[in-house]
Amino acid sequence: MSYSNIAVRKFDAVIVGAGGAGLRAAIQLSESGLKVAVLSKVFPTRSHTVAAQGGVSASLGNSEPDHWTWHMYDTVKGSDWLGDQDAIEFMCRKAPEVVVELEHFGMPFDRTDEGKIYQRPFGGHMSNFGEKPVRRACAAADRTGHAMLHALYQRNVRARTQFFVEWMALDLIRDADGHVLGVSALEMETGEVSIFHAKATIFATGGAGRIFASSTNAFINTGDGLGMAARAGIPLEDMEFWQFHPTGVAGAGVLITEGVRGEGGILRNSSGERFMERYAPNAKDLASRDVVSRAMVTEINEGRGCGPNKDFVLLDITHLPPETIMKRLPGIREISIQFAGVDPIKAPIPVVPTCHYQMGGIPTNYKGQVVVPVGDNMSVPVPGFYAAGECACASVHGANRLGTNSLLDLLVFGKASGEAVVEDLKQMPVEHRPLPADAIDRTRERLERLDARTGGESEHATRLALQRVMQTHCGVFRFKDKLAEGVEEILEVEKRVAQVSIGDKSKVWNTARVEALELENLIEVAKATMISANARLESRGAHVRDDAPDTAERPNGRNDSEWLKHTLWNRADNALSYKPVTLEPLTVETIALKTRTY
Ligand SMILES: Cc1cc2nc3c(=O)[nH]c(=O)nc-3n(C[C@H](O)[C@H](O)[C@H](O)COP(=O)(O)OP(=O)(O)OC[C@H]3O[C@@H](n4cnc5c(N)ncnc54)[C@H](O)[C@@H]3O)c2cc1C
Repeated sequence: MSYSNIAVRKFDAVIVGAGGAGLRAAIQLSESGLKVAVLSKVFPTRSHTVAAQGGVSASLGNSEPDHWTWHMYDTVKGSDWLGDQDAIEFMCRKAPEVVVELEHFGMPFDRTDEGKIYQRPFGGHMSNFGEKPVRRACAAADRTGHAMLHALYQRNVRARTQFFVEWMALDLIRDADGHVLGVSALEMETGEVSIFHAKATIFATGGAGRIFASSTNAFINTGDGLGMAARAGIPLEDMEFWQFHPTGVAGAGVLITEGVRGEGGILRNSSGERFMERYAPNAKDLASRDVVSRAMVTEINEGRGCGPNKDFVLLDITHLPPETIMKRLPGIREISIQFAGVDPIKAPIPVVPTCHYQMGGIPTNYKGQVVVPVGDNMSVPVPGFYAAGECACASVHGANRLGTNSLLDLLVFGKASGEAVVEDLKQMPVEHRPLPADAIDRTRERLERLDARTGGESEHATRLALQRVMQTHCGVFRFKDKLAEGVEEILEVEKRVAQVSIGDKSKVWNTARVEALELENLIEVAKATMISANARLESRGAHVRDDAPDTAERPNGRNDSEWLKHTLWNRADNALSYKPVTLEPLTVETIALKTRTY
């Protein structure tokens, strides 16, 4: 196949990704009268945002007093002080505005008796600087993400945003001065490649949870934005921090909500023991996500797992009345029957901690501009490049994200990145900067290599090997020796990725080619994660190492004197550099460092 005749399509701005973040950014651009293209691998309303259940946080105070400074405090504490306090202030202060705006876009929130937006309590969200749980999660039943994505899509239809559906962006285009000038992209239906030439490019490509064998994430969450950014010389920030949800269906990874344990569900090991009593005598099965996940992995590692391979534990609700299950947990029962072949009324559900969310990503400031170190300045904007949502690291989640803060992140930083583009374009010349002569070279080389090679590594087997290495060496609980081995093994997998070949070379709807290209993004995310995790010699938030235990001198194993800093991984030489955490908020006082206890 020849890739010499490449069509060039010109826009003011191109957005890669049509999940919550991409759609919110697109509204801002289209309603400002800009010519904008939104690319998505799937129809917009099938993006992973559609799967979000619990809610979107905002201190509306509809049922009881709340304040954005309390929300800010909780978020800084949840981040284990690794979050940037300017960005966290910005997000929490803006939350009521963007949620009410979403309501005005037509979001069908549940209502209180007075007709206000319904809010429910959620983990880590407290009143009055950590006093007691507060109702801050604005919800539309247990389908908040679904309702949100549809409301945002409809608003885009009204604003006449131009969508390129089932188009896969392949590479970022940068010129010799480092300006970003758009992306190359593959139309999956035809197999043709085009250049999207733009003055501004926003990445909103979502998470990369598919680097792990067990993940709640959609199959399309392969970290394409991170791979593209890394190949174009942008470092990736804080990639060692991944959130594991305790209860994914074993083997399938599909999420079983925390609400199951809220209704009285109990975790048991192979001898039927309620093991959480040993790890968290007070909260038991309702301890925080990281604590429960680590307890489950300890049970499995010490040989008390269930099943032929002793590699899962059981979530038991057989003691609950069937009516309660049918009324309060109907969706979960359906998931369990479909994905585990188990009716939870009659038998316990096999579960494992499952990769859920990436805290790190493409480094940005709180305006959504992508920033890189230049000389002594650690945060210089890359002209023409923006990122928002799960692929970006603003950093509001630091070392651990609070539930419902991601949907908020999409709204706040989707909108902010759109506003930044509108402002920055005013300073730019009317004409597009010319495309460099080598604009398409990297993409062409990747595609031609795949077309030419025969008899190499299988894509499927290589992807499984990658996921196994990540799951075994860089999971919930991290061990010094396993991490060091993991670095070696993932670099071996990288060599196999470079040798992948596809049997089918046809153009139309060639999913083998798409998956091989996705694998080249997964490997970048996997390397960034393993190498960053191996190097961070402390425990903080979701990153907990056996050689950085809880001591009187270092509670929870956190080491602020050496490790209160963001990691930056560079693809070129796998080198790491570090940048300071922003401890100064925009208008209020710094939230001082403390030990994180709940
Ligand atoms: C099961 C589940 C439940 C969750 N529940 C909650 C919750 O209750 N509350 C909460 O706050 N958070 C929740 N989260 C987290 C939250 O939903 C996600 O972090 C968030 O939706 C990500 O949104 P996004 O816009 O960044 O990306 P996504 O919604 O993942 O969208 C990514 C988009 O990028 C496109 N894309 C990717 N690569 C390419 C490419 N190469 N070319 C073209 N397009 C591309 C995709 O097609 C898609 O349109 C949940 C997550 C999961 C997995």
